[in-house]
Amino acid sequence: MHIHNGKSYDLIVCGCGVAGFTAAVQGARAGLKTAVIERYGMPGGILTVGGNNDIAQFFAHHRQVIRGIGWEYVTRLAEAGYAVIPDKMADGPHWIYGVHVNIPAAAYMMDTMLTEAGADLYYGQPIAAVDTEKSENGMTHVTGVIIASKEGLRRLTGKVFIDCTGDGDAAVYAGAQYECGGESETDGFLQPGTIRFYIDKLNLPEEVRRRADRILQEYRENGRMDPTDVRRRTISAMMEARGNNIGHVSGFNGADSDSKTASEVAGRASVYRLMNALQDAGVPMDPFPPIETIAPEVAVRESRRILGDGYMTEENYVSGYQYPDAVCTSFYPIDLHRHGDNGIRQTFLTDGQIPTVPLSALIVKGIDNMLVAGRCASGDRLANSAYRVKASCMAMGQAAAACAVIALRHNQNIREASIEEIRTLLRENNAIVTADDVTD
Ligand SMILES: Cc1cc2nc3c(=O)[nH]c(=O)nc-3n(C[C@H](O)[C@H](O)[C@H](O)COP(=O)(O)OP(=O)(O)OC[C@H]3O[C@@H](n4cnc5c(N)ncnc54)[C@H](O)[C@@H]3O)c2cc1C
Repeated sequence: MHIHNGKSYDLIVCGCGVAGFTAAVQGARAGLKTAVIERYGMPGGILTVGGNNDIAQFFAHHRQVIRGIGWEYVTRLAEAGYAVIPDKMADGPHWIYGVHVNIPAAAYMMDTMLTEAGADLYYGQPIAAVDTEKSENGMTHVTGVIIASKEGLRRLTGKVFIDCTGDGDAAVYAGAQYECGGESETDGFLQPGTIRFYIDKLNLPEEVRRRADRILQEYRENGRMDPTDVRRRTISAMMEARGNNIGHVSGFNGADSDSKTASEVAGRASVYRLMNALQDAGVPMDPFPPIETIAPEVAVRESRRILGDGYMTEENYVSGYQYPDAVCTSFYPIDLHRHGDNGIRQTFLTDGQIPTVPLSALIVKGIDNMLVAGRCASGDRLANSAYRVKASCMAMGQAAAACAVIALRHNQNIREASIEEIRTLLRENNAIVTADDVTD
């Protein structure tokens, strides 16, 4: 099979969701020749393509607990009128601290910041394989990635790689160990995914709203809809959220392509049932129900957790443990969505607790030049249900790239990079590294 030879890089970032975005910006800004590879034509992952346009959470306990490139990004969006940043001093449930963004602008701003930083973009080109060799220290050494381009297969070579694919694809192709699910409150299932649909916000007469809610309930009870299609949301709540984060698509594994394919079929069937219910309820057709479009895939809450040298635990997360090699903070309740319509297992962090992410949990075990950042970073599934949120993923992406920068600056292995130099670089780039950096 012929594989075209592509360019060589210092840093190759695999996947351009929120973690890959900050990793590539940090790497390129610090002078690394950087490539970012993304299977879709649009950056942003769950934030944009997946349609979950909420970034949780930069604020906690009335203070700013995460900053850095992620914060710069939302600030730029807000200045342009495309993000709503909540009041840090507000009191309320954790979800009020999410930053809501406009999806086209969110993707545009990623394009802009990546281009300004000087990263090379490889959009619409999934990673299909990874080249490896054995290094002298007995570990696996990644030499390149093979991407599926319009010209055919293309090989890009690099010195350091960061897996930000959410599912840990690149690390798994390189032979990394991982966990997927495990001990749980979800009866052996992974957390459900959700398909975003985009529903117009109509000013419906009260009688139509009531009829729609009655029909949704009846259909759940008589089997014409699945109880997880819209869970217990009313038509008003669905419209208020514009279709964001409504249903659950349960019982699938987003890191298994056959199962993932079945989940896409199930997700679309779920939205189809909802549209039929809206028709039956007499919601105005113009000429169709007010659901204009859907995301191209079911957004995955949980799949592989790549094993690192270190491992974040729920216990350390909820106690706000400051790991000795902490490189960034994270913040969210433990938030494990149960299978079907069985609620969420949550543990809230009490005042003053600010969890950290150790560098060791971002270094892929057994591979001497690969890091991992974002949802697929190393930790137990309960810790993962918290550190997977977007502001935390952005902080991890930036931190992983800072490690690559310092290692390459001194011609060192990523495990030899000085933690103090990494922290200095991160602070120079406006990041919060440990709870001690949290001041206002
Ligand atoms: C339904 C739902 C609701 C959520 N609600 C919230 C919320 O309200 N607030 C919040 O902060 N978080 C929320 N989360 C969690 C959060 O959105 C995600 O965990 C987070 O966005 C993950 O970021 P990431 O960069 O690690 O991965 P992703 O966003 O998944 O990005 C990974 C990127 O890698 C690309 N990729 C994957 N495989 C390959 C490959 N082989 N080759 C090339 N590219 C590849 C993908 O296309 C994608 O762009 C929610 C998640 C879901 C699913």
